[in-house]
Amino acid sequence: MEKKKQILSCIQPTGDMHFGNYFGAIKNWVELQDQYDCIYGVVNYHAMTMPYSPKKLRENTWALVFNLIATGIKPESIFIQSLIPEHAELCWVFNCFTSYGQLTRMTQFKDKSAQNKELGADSFISAGLLDYPVLQAADILIYKADYVPVGVDQEQHLELSRNIAQRFNNQVGKEYFVLPESLYTEVPKVRSTADPTRKMSKSAGEKHYINVFADEKRIRKQIRSAVTDTGDTPEGKMSPGVQNLFELLKASEKMEAHAQLMKDYEGGQLKYVDLKDAVADALVEISQRFIAKKEELNSNKKEVKNQIKYSSSIIRQRAQQTLKEVKDLAGLMNVKF
Ligand code: ADP
Repeated sequence: MEKKKQILSCIQPTGDMHFGNYFGAIKNWVELQDQYDCIYGVVNYHAMTMPYSPKKLRENTWALVFNLIATGIKPESIFIQSLIPEHAELCWVFNCFTSYGQLTRMTQFKDKSAQNKELGADSFISAGLLDYPVLQAADILIYKADYVPVGVDQEQHLELSRNIAQRFNNQVGKEYFVLPESLYTEVPKVRSTADPTRKMSKSAGEKHYINVFADEKRIRKQIRSAVTDTGDTPEGKMSPGVQNLFELLKASEKMEAHAQLMKDYEGGQLKYVDLKDAVADALVEISQRFIAKKEELNSNKKEVKNQIKYSSSIIRQRAQQTLKEVKDLAGLMNVKF
């Protein structure tokens, strides 16, 4: 049987999981598991590159693990980055194969350092923020990933990973690293229901995202108060808020309701309240399923944590093998103490 292609993707433990994250990334990850050999990393080292609280980081790391399992990721596919120190060690080796100038030109570095500067007196731009794409290259290449499901915003980082792999291969005179490719899947861009001109995101504040694990009342309230018409949409064009609600219905796979309500819209008879109720029903149905699964996991907290420590140790063996080979090729010592 042909070996399945390797997929690698990572997510930072930075707080709640919202429907933008779920429809835009996690749902796709769940579906990819059928076709590929998938590894998904909860990358806590990355979450240290912006100002953070150690206590919150630990809580968020475990919370994300539980959220991922509750939403359908197989526990054996999940690792916690800091349990696999080889990522950081490979990052060092890769630092020496990375152009400093290229790192300073990364759009995300420019954006995030500008964001940090806005914090004023607390402004602190760490070397970690500059170096984060190199650690990301290590995350990907250490498992010789064939494909990385990325959004457009990450394409530049993936290109950097390929540059590093190529430079390493040239230096050691061997096509050692696979050059990872991006895997594009059509995923929706979910907008904030409070302000449909911006994307649904945690960084904009609580009203700008809908937590996947929120209770029914809160979800219904957020959808009921979704902005529909702002009055500035050109005649005959659907407003961003209404578009977003239809998008959410489609992402929830409620195609029948979608078709019916779209017909109403086209006939000029759509009542926004009907569209909102349909969206709220769909999101609540999904979230209730996930909440039930999470309750089950929460009643076995210790077991789940042990399971993830174990899966990380199994995934680590692959990282250790790669690092051993890299050290051999790079002229470094490998000694078993
Ligand atoms: P946030 O903006 O809330 O901090 P992250 O940047 O941590 O979210 O995103 C984690 C993943 O979720 C990424 O793969 C990202 O592309 C996806 N994602 C985040 N927000 C959205 C959105 N509004 N629509 C679609 N996908 C999203």
